[in-house]
Amino acid sequence: MTDGLDPEDPAAFRRAAHALLDACLDRLEGARDYPWQSVPEAVKAGYRLDGGGQGETTLAQRLAADVLPHGTGNTHPRFFGWVHGTGLASGLMSEMVAATMNANLGGRDHGAIYVERAVIDWSRGVFGFPETASGVLVTGTSQATVIALAAARVRALGQQVRKTGQGAARLTAYAGAGVHNATKKALELLGIGSDNLRAIPETDAGMDTGALHAAIAADRAAGAMPFAVIGTAGSVDLGRFDDLNALADIARDEGLWLHVDGAFGAWVRIAGAPWSGLVTGIDRADSLACDFHKWMYVPYDCGLVLIRDEAAHRAAFAARPSYLEGQDRGLAGGDPWYCDYGVDLSRGNRALKVWSALVAYGPERLGAAIADNCARAAQMGDLVAADPHMRLMAPVVSNLCVFTADTRLPADGQSALNTAIAQDLQLSGDAVFSTVTIDGITALRAAITNHRTRPEDVVQAITAVAHARDAG
Ligand SMILES: *Cc1c(COP(=O)(O)O)cnc(C)c1O
Repeated sequence: MTDGLDPEDPAAFRRAAHALLDACLDRLEGARDYPWQSVPEAVKAGYRLDGGGQGETTLAQRLAADVLPHGTGNTHPRFFGWVHGTGLASGLMSEMVAATMNANLGGRDHGAIYVERAVIDWSRGVFGFPETASGVLVTGTSQATVIALAAARVRALGQQVRKTGQGAARLTAYAGAGVHNATKKALELLGIGSDNLRAIPETDAGMDTGALHAAIAADRAAGAMPFAVIGTAGSVDLGRFDDLNALADIARDEGLWLHVDGAFGAWVRIAGAPWSGLVTGIDRADSLACDFHKWMYVPYDCGLVLIRDEAAHRAAFAARPSYLEGQDRGLAGGDPWYCDYGVDLSRGNRALKVWSALVAYGPERLGAAIADNCARAAQMGDLVAADPHMRLMAPVVSNLCVFTADTRLPADGQSALNTAIAQDLQLSGDAVFSTVTIDGITALRAAITNHRTRPEDVVQAITAVAHARDAG
């Protein structure tokens, strides 16, 4: 007898699930052999859902054969594109347990909630936020930014802004010109408007604070209400870091909320010297958005928002109708309920994969992997500098290396060549670089958030770039 949708033949299900687990383990152990490859047309067509109902044993076979091989390729050691985390073996275990438990982390009193609390408490300690700070795990830094800036707006305009909307108030925010699009999107979603985000010029040392002061003064004079400074810890284009202490001083003096976008870069905090020095002052932020799925290597998706002032955080999001009222005992007990700290009511168990990574590897090994990624980016920078025709587009300050392959060409020729090289190496499986336009040249860009990248991978990737250039 089968309950509803449970397996009709538990023994057969067990065999199929074990075989699938072995397929996953084979894939994981063979990660070095599986770069990204484009999905064959027949496989894409096979994903179409017509009919279904083929049973779990067929499902297991199809998952292993048709789905498992066609990932993004970010599990491969020479994947340096965009900022993609690699994933962790611990994730294979934690995702299996999370699916079996099927916990809803919106609130109430059960084990998964305490796991999330432990992850947030640990993170709070890492970033030097006070024990009274609040936090919640979210999809990623994009959502974390919405939550942080919503709290900042409640601080600026009062909680009634939730009911009345912003009205005629014109809030303005400030960020370095290299700020990630996620901040613009968040301001758009909140109805503040991305035109009210000022792009402050920046150098390799981050935002120009003189220009920041001037922009705040000009907005005040024009009747706007400056409310937030967004510092970047690890810019997506070049891996730059703002001087967070300088920004914290300005935010304090001007009465502004300091939000830090530390999507990947915040985690240099656990990488030891000299890298941890890049985020000195992060403990003074009012809010921090960062990802576990990038430079903590945890499987997608998982981000974090931390907010210094828990009252502001709750004031921006808490709202429970009577069917969700908390009780002093039983399953409806417990406090906090994470639905009071963000957009989502129903929430999956993101915390377990972070907790599992920390239990298995610990902050020291994770931090050492981050430091090693920075060393690999520096190594790549040295190889580029040693090549007679390549040139770095900016100094390597953390884990990003941005360069052009052939300075003998005019700017548009370099752009075309770099673009073609990126595509060719992706298709061949040699290496995945992405591209970014700096100073009018579309350059090759490597963001190393990959715990599998070895020194020989970096040599192999740069050698492949040189060969592609010389062959073209
Ligand atoms: C990736 C990234 C984001 C967006 O984060 P998601 O997790 O993709 O939503 C924001 N800021 C920076 C600097 C990033 O690198």
